[in-house]
Amino acid sequence: MRSVGTPGEILGLIRRGEATTRNAVAGATGLARSTVAGRIDRLIADGLISEDGDAPSTGGRPPALLAFNRHAGVVLVADLGATHGRLAVTDLAGEPMAEVAVDLDIAAGPEAVLHRVEAEFDALLDTTNRGGDAVSAIGIGVPGPVEFAAGRAVNPPIMPGWHGYPIRDRLSARFGAPCLVDNDVNIMALGEHWVAAPRPDNLLFVKVGTGIGSGLILDGCLHRGAQGAAGDIGHVQIAAAEGVLCRCGNEGCLEAVAGGRALADQLAGRGAATATSRDVVRLAAAGDHIAVSAIREAGRRIGRVLASMVNILNPESIVVGGDVAEAGEHLLAGIREAVYRRSTALATAHLRVTTSTLGDRAGITGAAAMAIEHVLDPIVVDASLLAAKGATA
Ligand SMILES: [Zn+2]
Repeated sequence: MRSVGTPGEILGLIRRGEATTRNAVAGATGLARSTVAGRIDRLIADGLISEDGDAPSTGGRPPALLAFNRHAGVVLVADLGATHGRLAVTDLAGEPMAEVAVDLDIAAGPEAVLHRVEAEFDALLDTTNRGGDAVSAIGIGVPGPVEFAAGRAVNPPIMPGWHGYPIRDRLSARFGAPCLVDNDVNIMALGEHWVAAPRPDNLLFVKVGTGIGSGLILDGCLHRGAQGAAGDIGHVQIAAAEGVLCRCGNEGCLEAVAGGRALADQLAGRGAATATSRDVVRLAAAGDHIAVSAIREAGRRIGRVLASMVNILNPESIVVGGDVAEAGEHLLAGIREAVYRRSTALATAHLRVTTSTLGDRAGITGAAAMAIEHVLDPIVVDASLLAAKGATA
């Protein structure tokens, strides 16, 4: 669809590099040059774009180049896990300016955890010499189901005390900026999609950690589903798990035999010193045959479920992340084997199955992407320019 050229849409053209001169913006939008000039002046006055004349000269006066000003604001991001978290301040291109990894206990409840998050954000802002008024947006990931529109966790199994807690409203009020909250797997999917080059329209991110979950990017957008529960593949029933009790209360779930916790339990039952998924990965990295074959079999089981998803959704990319993915080729080999054998030839013709390139930074990268794409959405930009105009009128 042809852009109609509101200031927010013009900002998008400049940001994506699709139009970087006034003439190009006029050409792309079909607007009169005088209209384009007024809107660009407005974006420059607001600090969102800058204009310089450093374009290479081909004789005559070179056209001034328009560029998105990534330093027009900062974004606060946090990826909160069960026992640790990663927090950062990024610029409006998602580039981290300061970052910290901390131990925290999500089960300590929202008051204690968010108090800590706020203190860490204050400290990170201090180190970047940006005041709180520079905060454009906040993006948070939590290890449980989230009602995205309300910014609240909903019956999160490993987050006692968080059900219904207004995470979004608290942080938004504290820092005076919009806040977006989503579950950890969704923000990891957004992070992998954000850095992929070329960026695929359809990407399936699978997290294999203590549990198993997935995030779906369909036609370029994160698919959350009606209640935000889309992609919860850990609790898909598989034959190999028949009779095995899952932490969700059902029997037969994929996660109950192929998740990191299940692998640790299986190996511990055979005498290995494995308490967590990380222990399993460490053992496999040391060449332990039993650990390697357990991870590979887990890969095949996960792959069978993914094969069904490939047949239904036809993604061009599957990215595997989470602790157990750090076992690298062992998990990936099992997944690939099952996906390529059980999906249709057409669906796998151009399918790539890879491990995460971001590792444990996928979450904050995606939280930044989520917050930035919200605050730079043309509708949001136009509304805030209008509000600023009203305030100064
Ligand atoms: Zn289950």
